[in-house]
Amino acid sequence: MQSSTASFETEPEHWPSWPQTSPEIEESVCRVLRSGRWAISGMNAGMHAEERVFGDEFASYLGVSHGVPVANGSAALVVALEALGIGTGDEVLVPGLVWVACASAVARVGARPVLVDVDELTLCMSLDAAEAAVGERTRAILLVHLYSSVADLDAFSALAERRGLALIEDCAQAHGAAWRGRRVGTIGRVSAFSFQNSKLLTAGEGGLVATSDDDLADAAQQLRGDGRRWTTENGRRGFPDLDEVGTRQGHNLCMSELHAAVLRASLRLLDDQNARRHANALVLEDALGTLDGVSVVRNRDTRITQPTFYHLPVRIDPNAFGGAVGERVGRAVAEEVGLYLEPVDPPLNAHPLYRPDRYTRFNFLHRKWLDVGDFDLPVATRVSANCFTIPHHALLAPQDRVLGLAEALAHVQRSLSTR
Ligand SMILES: *Cc1c(COP(=O)(O)O)cnc(C)c1O
Repeated sequence: MQSSTASFETEPEHWPSWPQTSPEIEESVCRVLRSGRWAISGMNAGMHAEERVFGDEFASYLGVSHGVPVANGSAALVVALEALGIGTGDEVLVPGLVWVACASAVARVGARPVLVDVDELTLCMSLDAAEAAVGERTRAILLVHLYSSVADLDAFSALAERRGLALIEDCAQAHGAAWRGRRVGTIGRVSAFSFQNSKLLTAGEGGLVATSDDDLADAAQQLRGDGRRWTTENGRRGFPDLDEVGTRQGHNLCMSELHAAVLRASLRLLDDQNARRHANALVLEDALGTLDGVSVVRNRDTRITQPTFYHLPVRIDPNAFGGAVGERVGRAVAEEVGLYLEPVDPPLNAHPLYRPDRYTRFNFLHRKWLDVGDFDLPVATRVSANCFTIPHHALLAPQDRVLGLAEALAHVQRSLSTR
């Protein structure tokens, strides 16, 4: 294989890039630039702020009453937790195999992330392990719809109900997915979205808290805006649109108007992009399924009426690959096809970026309480070592190019097993 830069420039066809712009996105950004209002704390420019309109548009896309945009997905988690009143001394169940922000957000509000092992077939939180992890201090379940899976929302809703816990959905990887006809993010009490660069809907950075609970939405607005919320009065051009309520201690975790403009225009492309990824994913899954020792890990529950495809995790059996683990196989395929294939992160009890023991503002006892050494995550540990993932933008390519991934994997398998 030739090295990347040269072949990138000479190849007529590349993998689709991500994120993608469009004339509508560019027009939308220019409109905001010219409006003279770049932040919600700016003066009314003769219309509702983009942030407010995007929050409403995304809420109605989902089917909830309120959408509160925030600076990023981690801020969405912090705001959701604080809106629920979760803080020092509380415990929150967090899946053990997930991006570090899910646990660090819980620790940041002073609560303890209880790391729960995952389900082998979906990579989402294991119901049995969650049930066993509920204790006296548990206040919430942070349920993550990971990669291309939707977690069993019926079972987790029932568990939350039975044990008196709040169900928080983390939908950072599942924009537009649906469970029994309802979009994910509408079933838990509150949900968090991220619009970071890699996500299915993105403005580079961004996030949103969704809920149908009026009190939680009011809290979320104040928590993201230094205690301010949108005025209920008609805005007056040249004057502020925010009321200084201050019944909560908030912080500035606001989304800029430019980000909201990108998101409003991008939201209109999401369903089409999801449909293209879906069609290509099914074809690719069939092709991968013919290979020995290869499986795609995603929840195939028929109650998922609309799957989405963020990263597609491919699990390999090292015995069918001359003993090579998933990461090595992924790297070899990546070389062949000229596309970066991310490995699955290690579980949070072995993740180099999850270091609650390094929080300077907690005392020794608090840090000890957060110690990851207390958690055993055998399934997460085993599965993560033998997976690599295919990014969603690859699934926007023409079908024959997508099928090239399966051909490359077959080729890698032949060369590794005949060594
Ligand atoms: C990306 C991600 C986050 C964090 O979002 P940021 O916008 O990067 O802060 C949280 N949870 C999950 C599951 C994610 O994938």
